[in-house]
Amino acid sequence: MSDNRKHQAYLEEALREAAKAPDEVPVGAVIVQNGRIIARAHNQREGADADPFGHAEIIAMRQAAGKLGRRRLSDCTLYVTLEPCPMCAGAMLLAELGGCFFSAFDPVMGCCGSVYDLSQDPAFPRHVPTAGGLLAAEAEAQLRAFFDAKRKAPAENKTPEQENGTDGFTR
Ligand SMILES: [Zn+2]
Repeated sequence: MSDNRKHQAYLEEALREAAKAPDEVPVGAVIVQNGRIIARAHNQREGADADPFGHAEIIAMRQAAGKLGRRRLSDCTLYVTLEPCPMCAGAMLLAELGGCFFSAFDPVMGCCGSVYDLSQDPAFPRHVPTAGGLLAAEAEAQLRAFFDAKRKAPAENKTPEQENGTDGFTR
């Protein structure tokens, strides 16, 4: 399997993970070590256990660290359906993650090149290689379907961003 095909297969897994939580903004992530998926997660911000930081990337990195019994993830690669935000890009640096592939770019909150590139900022001593855009159309379609459905939903189910139509693809 070519490298590109391999990355694509992991991003397809991340897309499947994103689809598992119909009430969350569909973002899914998997973490791969030595050709094996060791963690998978989707956004978990809503509901009774509301968590503003419940992004798929954070949950997946925590899961991977727990599984490996160490906090450094330098031999791990994160695959995520949406460009990491400032929090997740910062967490990637702290985890010393080996690399990150993401699908859709996030022009509102993306911190791996769109709004800012935290992963490569020379001000910090660590950097994480990132690459975006693979399977972007699929990820964008998934996000668009979610936000379209929300817009049609009754007003009480909408966030202020959805009411104002300013949410774009971001979470
Ligand atoms: Zn994030």
